[in-house]
Amino acid sequence: MPETYVCPYCRATVERDYRVQYVIRSCPECGDHGRSVHAEVAAALDDLSSDDLPDGWADRPLDERLLVAVREGLLEIAETRLPPRE
Ligand SMILES: [Zn+2]
Repeated sequence: MPETYVCPYCRATVERDYRVQYVIRSCPECGDHGRSVHAEVAAALDDLSSDDLPDGWADRPLDERLLVAVREGLLEIAETRLPPRE
């Protein structure tokens, strides 16, 4: 089953056959180059409480949010590790 990845800039999605946190690619939709984040990780980032978010969060692309969230302890590592499907 393919995995879905989300462009950090425009949220266009792409499918890949492997399961990782993010895929570095150029997005054909917006032309930007960055880390397309796995859809489950993107959803976990979107679910974070706005009370906990650092300044500038809304201005950051999705891939930077992932790095900040892990560094700031906003996301448990387990939430972003993406264990293999059973
Ligand atoms: Zn894009």
